Amino acid sequence: AVILGIESSCDETAAALIATDRRVLAHRLAGQEAEHRPYGGVVPEIAARAHVEAVTPLVEAALADAGIGLGDVDAIAATAGPGLIGGVMVGLVTAKALALAAGKPLVAVNHLEGHALSPRLADPALAYPYLLLLVSGGHCQLLLVGGVGRYRRLATTIDDAAGEAFDKTAKLLGLGFPGGPAVEKAAALGDPKAVPLPRPLVGRAEPHFSFAGLKSAVLRARDAGTYSAQDIAASFQAAVIDCLIDRTKRAIAGAPGATALVVAGGVAANGAIRGALQTLAHARDLPFVAPPLWLCTDNAAMIGWAGAERFMAGLTDPLDVAARARWPLDPDAEAARGAGV
Ligand code: ATP
Ligand code: MG
Ligand code: FE
Repeated sequence: AVILGIESSCDETAAALIATDRRVLAHRLAGQEAEHRPYGGVVPEIAARAHVEAVTPLVEAALADAGIGLGDVDAIAATAGPGLIGGVMVGLVTAKALALAAGKPLVAVNHLEGHALSPRLADPALAYPYLLLLVSGGHCQLLLVGGVGRYRRLATTIDDAAGEAFDKTAKLLGLGFPGGPAVEKAAALGDPKAVPLPRPLVGRAEPHFSFAGLKSAVLRARDAGTYSAQDIAASFQAAVIDCLIDRTKRAIAGAPGATALVVAGGVAANGAIRGALQTLAHARDLPFVAPPLWLCTDNAAMIGWAGAERFMAGLTDPLDVAARARWPLDPDAEAARGAGV
């Protein structure tokens, strides 16, 4: 079967065609960095309007790339949340209209499930249950992924997400937008031991994450005026890595049945973080799976793939399914499907 996937939850509009045998027939993406850069962050109204302009041409381009028509598609999957509600609605309404017009089933995909299952698109050998570190712009969680719609959340952040910490650090250091790749680039030129920064919650029994204190420490280091931006970036990245690794170690100990250690989400594109997790997995005799970089940051292939897994499990949604600004990925979230705003 072939699934059309549509993503529009933040500042990437994307369309992809994914076969249930894992072939990526087409994937198209339009970023909005230029529109948001003057504001130093994503402006929801600007994002929603940009999605409106981009989504239909992207779907048409993806179909043309794959050399198929809408009639050849077996189901239409779109992100239904969580995210900026205006953008989510644009993609979901587009998917509903296409589903209605072509008489195809609709699959409403949780964006986080898109990230969570994306490693399975890249690696056919990756079997459930796996231990997932989901690190993105809005989330930082450890999940035991047991299958489609089956998530046990082991840890979450008590304040900022990992990607948010990268973005705020980039802004504080004047490294530009989007922040994650800019911090990674600057960090490569700095000394990770130059600036003493805290490791919030490291060593604690409770499994959670915290990054707000780290951001404040970066601000103090900047205002001290004695460190280069490169040294602060490198020290910040090293602190984030120490936090992620310490918390993940704890989760590995608490999830003995996991088949692999897996990382996903935009922050998973960070080479130093991937390297540290790989070393940890190796030390624990666990396979390590990280999607290719293009599949880490937001894209429609992961939405198409999550849609494919749902479609294969017989899970489709009614055309009146709701877009949701908030939609956590845990057992209760499945029960609440479609009950959002
Ligand atoms: P969510 O998925 O939680 O709803 P989102 O969709 O906005 O949030 P993603 O697109 O998955 O987030 O990831 C974007 C985040 O990843 C941004 O915070 C960005 O700074 C971060 N990021 C991207 N590349 C890197 C990198 N190389 N190093 C660190 N962070 C990165
Ligand atoms: Mg983005
Ligand atoms: Fe995302």
